[in-house]
Amino acid sequence: MSNAEATHAALGEELNVPVIEEADVVVCGGGPAGIAAAIAAAQTQRHLGITPNVRLIETHGQLGGIWTSGLLCWILDARNKSGLMQQILNRVEAYRVDLGGRPSRKRGGQLYDAEHMKVLLEEMCEEAGVRIRLHTRVVAAHQQNGRLTHIVTESKSGREAFAARCFIDCTGDGDLAAQAGCSYEIGRIDEGSSTPVCQPMTLMALITGVDREAIRPFHDRHQYSTLEVKRALRAEFERAGVTPSYGHPTLFEVYPDLFALMSNHEYERNPLDAQAITDATISARREIHRVIEALRQSGGPWQNLRVVATAAQIGIRESRRPAGLYRICLDDLIVGRRHDDAVCECSFPIDVHATSSDGDRSVETPPVPKTLPYDIPFRALVARDVDGLLMAGRCISGDFYAHASYRVTGNAVPMGEAAGCAAALAASHRVSPRELDYPGEVRPIQRALFNKLAATVYVRNGHEGGLLMSHAGNSDSNRDIQEESPTCSPDPLHS
Ligand SMILES: Cc1cc2nc3c(=O)[nH]c(=O)nc-3n(C[C@H](O)[C@H](O)[C@H](O)COP(=O)(O)OP(=O)(O)OC[C@H]3O[C@@H](n4cnc5c(N)ncnc54)[C@H](O)[C@@H]3O)c2cc1C
Repeated sequence: MSNAEATHAALGEELNVPVIEEADVVVCGGGPAGIAAAIAAAQTQRHLGITPNVRLIETHGQLGGIWTSGLLCWILDARNKSGLMQQILNRVEAYRVDLGGRPSRKRGGQLYDAEHMKVLLEEMCEEAGVRIRLHTRVVAAHQQNGRLTHIVTESKSGREAFAARCFIDCTGDGDLAAQAGCSYEIGRIDEGSSTPVCQPMTLMALITGVDREAIRPFHDRHQYSTLEVKRALRAEFERAGVTPSYGHPTLFEVYPDLFALMSNHEYERNPLDAQAITDATISARREIHRVIEALRQSGGPWQNLRVVATAAQIGIRESRRPAGLYRICLDDLIVGRRHDDAVCECSFPIDVHATSSDGDRSVETPPVPKTLPYDIPFRALVARDVDGLLMAGRCISGDFYAHASYRVTGNAVPMGEAAGCAAALAASHRVSPRELDYPGEVRPIQRALFNKLAATVYVRNGHEGGLLMSHAGNSDSNRDIQEESPTCSPDPLHS
């Protein structure tokens, strides 16, 4: 009996689970980090002359994570990125502008149409040769001699196991790392407490029935400051007799008649407890309908206001932070630490939403007045406690405050891209990801593959998703351009 057969037999005995597939790379979680990881792994295999053998597993019925199931509509900290992130920005902008949206790049982030994002990500994964499995949750992991060998999933097909040479945890919550036995941190332990507290959850919604001109003071961040529009919207809700649980309610203009709304906070809910997530979702949805109905009844520009949809998944700002070979910490942000193995530069400030309903329920004052752009090193993506596992997105290794900065999606994509390339190389060389030379071996391939793609200007019906990166591909890391001040702006472009 071969080693693989022996493992399969053992796994079958233990869990009575059929091993249905042997992939080179299995990516768990299809959010911004996961799609990037899967595409990068498949493209790297092509580059190496290998037919892609990459599986992407996602529990929801669409790819995109917070971008789609979470109805976010707003990408932050993406402007200083090249590669896949730039390619996605180009494509979503061209589509949105073609359908009547205003160009959105003048102010901090990138707006997108969540429904378009779903189909775009499916197309990109399929073009790269990624095998997609939706409606399937990763529930267990199996390791042998310290190396992760299989994951177990549950779905309509029952329990199944997937084997791979290398796995990437892109579940946001660090599910796979925890299942594989990695140690992790969660939240922050405040003075006088022994229970960690996490940032609040938020259920996003899409609303319609308003005219952008008529409600301009409540959303237009070109004309007014971010804080002005949030305060004005809060006052408008209060005028209508309701107080949203998020003290800085925000409208994002997707199209002139379609807005994304972020107006609720679910405080002190445990992101690892399904009942707590359920309770948070029900409570948040009830609140959204209540505040929107009050605003509608207040008349004026709101008289035809309607909820189009609430998100399928409540937004979980933070969850597990599994241990990696490097732990990004607050000090790295204070000094703007650089690394030889940088996968990207993070320029988003520390953004901690109120962790309790005391106070004004908006955001906390950061622990330091100023932070600097800093690097995310490849080592923070490599699991410390088990071999054969990488992490990307919000579940990399870092402390509470670093996580509150790097968690935004403009960083999740380049992290996924780096992890995907590394996983494909590790699988091909039959080595553990920790043995790879990221700057010498992985990054050159990653750059050759993805900076070329980023330079493609995407045009849709004459509307151009133009290039932001004038010299993508020339620098040492993904840190190419700082468009704005090199200090991480305290302007509350909150996530
Ligand atoms: C309310 C809210 C507002 C935010 N605002 C912004 C913003 O404006 N701009 C911005 O850029 N960022 C924002 N962020 C931060 C950002 O959304 C996250 O940090 C981001 O989602 C990170 O991407 P990810 O791919 O790591 O995780 P996710 O987007 O969470 O993706 C994880 C994916 O894994 C899947 N998954 C989870 N567990 C399993 C499992 N066991 N098996 C299979 N699949 C699984 C999930 O369904 C999901 O698709 C916000 C976050 C929240 C919650």
